[in-house]
Amino acid sequence: MELLTEKAAIVTGSTSGIGLGIARALAEAGCNIMLNGFGEASAIERERKQLVKDFGIEAHFNSADLSKPVEIVELVEATTRELGQVDILVNNAGIQHTAPIENFPADRWDAVIALNLSSNFHAIRSVIPQMRKRNWGRIINIASTHGLVASVNKAAYVAAKHGVIGLTKAVALETATTGITCNAICPGWVLTTLVVKQIVERAAREKIPVDQARADLLSEKQPSHEFATPEQIGALTVFLCSGAAAQIRGAALPVDGGWTAQ
Ligand code: NAD
Repeated sequence: MELLTEKAAIVTGSTSGIGLGIARALAEAGCNIMLNGFGEASAIERERKQLVKDFGIEAHFNSADLSKPVEIVELVEATTRELGQVDILVNNAGIQHTAPIENFPADRWDAVIALNLSSNFHAIRSVIPQMRKRNWGRIINIASTHGLVASVNKAAYVAAKHGVIGLTKAVALETATTGITCNAICPGWVLTTLVVKQIVERAAREKIPVDQARADLLSEKQPSHEFATPEQIGALTVFLCSGAAAQIRGAALPVDGGWTAQ
């Protein structure tokens, strides 16, 4: 597989979890990286410096709040200024809120849709013109198994992630005759802060130990009974950026231990 030297990537929500795994995999392939997300400034700076040290690439950080469209445009502009261009866009930032539909707070619906779906639209819209000029680009949207199937108490998340897969297909068709591809990755359970929160809530709700709640959460959905890892999602992202993946267009690729095979 060719290296991604001379390429520049934005990975949204890359201060932790899956996004950080993707940023590290792209950096290992030689790509310059714009990190983004929330968190403690010193911890983020540590991760940024580690990328530079481990892989000898250029890494910058931008604190854009991706629930705000204007800040997404500014993130793309800042990356273009600081890294020269945006060749790869990974829309990864996301949040979860769980509640039955009749109790689902309207402001949480708006927040989940804004970040998990609309931010992808605003970022893609902003990067496409420069990708078209160079006739090369890779857009990778981190959807979810919940973009393919539903679960209870996740109305906003399921709607947003199904929307991401629809958006992925639409953009893939609009760019089908170009060197730009757009695909979605659909992880099953990955042990990140987003999931740890759900495990802790489950343990409290069912009055069971956290270890038991973690095992139950996995076995309920994921036939492998193993978490997928940020490194595996990162490796698939690098593959989707390669020439070998040039005709993978508009796909929604599960990395889910068999979840959606059932
Ligand atoms: P995480 O909580 O570890 O990471 C989320 C990232 O998004 C963090 O860097 C956070 O700072 C950032 N973020 C949150 N709000 C933001 C905002 N308004 N603007 C910019 N950045 C913001 O969670 P994760 O599990 O790594 O999730 C990453 C993506 O993977 C999400 O889109 C999530 O839906 C998806 N996903 C996760 C799983 C899983 O099991 N963990 C499964 C399927 C899909």
